[in-house]
Amino acid sequence: MPQQKSKKLYTKQSKTLRPVSEGAEKWMGVPIECLDHGFVYLVDYMGNDQSIVEAARVSYGKGTKTVNEDRGLIRYLRRHWHTTPFEMVEFKFHAKMPIFVARQWIRHRTASVNEYSGRYSEMLNEFYLPDAAVLKKQSKSNRQGRGEELSPVQQKRVLEVLKNDYERSYLNYQDFLSEDVNLARELSRIGLSVANYTQWYWKINLHNLMHFLKLRMDPHAQHEVRVFAEAMAKILKDAMPLAYEAFNDYVLESMQLSGLERKVLSGNKWPMKEKKAREVIVALFSNKRETEECVEKFKTLGLIK
Ligand SMILES: Cc1cc2nc3c(=O)[nH]c(=O)nc-3n(C[C@H](O)[C@H](O)[C@H](O)COP(=O)(O)OP(=O)(O)OC[C@H]3O[C@@H](n4cnc5c(N)ncnc54)[C@H](O)[C@@H]3O)c2cc1C
Repeated sequence: MPQQKSKKLYTKQSKTLRPVSEGAEKWMGVPIECLDHGFVYLVDYMGNDQSIVEAARVSYGKGTKTVNEDRGLIRYLRRHWHTTPFEMVEFKFHAKMPIFVARQWIRHRTASVNEYSGRYSEMLNEFYLPDAAVLKKQSKSNRQGRGEELSPVQQKRVLEVLKNDYERSYLNYQDFLSEDVNLARELSRIGLSVANYTQWYWKINLHNLMHFLKLRMDPHAQHEVRVFAEAMAKILKDAMPLAYEAFNDYVLESMQLSGLERKVLSGNKWPMKEKKAREVIVALFSNKRETEECVEKFKTLGLIK
């Protein structure tokens, strides 16, 4: 079981005059397990769907009254990139993840972070050992992605090597820390791999959280960071049902068409066969990757048979 805070912290009933989200309350202090030793749980939050509406009312005067109108307003705000009302809501998570996941995650500069210190405390003997099923070959089409599965023999070999490396490096780490050597913790850790687990508190407003989720739930994002993004999205869906619905509709499930894509769309009769479609698309795009992405979009839209 991943190292986590006691749920007892959250069982005290407290009266508050602040806006409460029943969906968020449900997730307070409840960890969602991620990968082999990781987790994410909601530590605290500020605001609910209504808080977005209330903030927008400052701009729009009297504004809306019913849930239906609230839903319409939230969808309007999301559709038209009126994003500041979404910044009025905040979420604070405690997450534990491998260091290589943390490196991708930390690139999202708009959050406040407080991380476990390997200078102050000992690093834990916890390293990410992937499931065999996620051990895949380098993708042929995407330089950053995975492709076909490894053979069972290759999977076994990779996992054994990783396990041995983790054990050896952690033994060395403990040796450096021992009384014999007494090397400072801040240096003793440098031989540990980026598969070693770290953890942090991560606080972010709803607008930037949605931006993070859009990028890190995308199929192009690395599987290991996607697991955490999907866990937070699960919490968010309950915590902010109206905002999440709008986000899902206008961001996650939406599709952007470039000027050239619109041109090729309006300048031809669709649907058409893939071979012919490729000819008309490639005539406009000089770039192979852009052509492929356009073909994929048109296939999704049912325009290429
Ligand atoms: C699939 C994928 C692959 C990636 N590959 C690489 C890679 O190969 N190499 C690499 O280095 N990174 C890579 N990244 C990281 C990526 O470039 C971003 O750093 C990361 O996604 C954070 O996005 P962000 O800057 O929009 O988010 P945030 O830092 O949260 O910023 C949110 C928004 O605030 C604004 N903003 C924040 N700071 C500034 C600033 N200083 N100036 C101007 N505007 C600002 C921008 O509008 C930004 O979109 C990858 C990300 C993804 C999702």
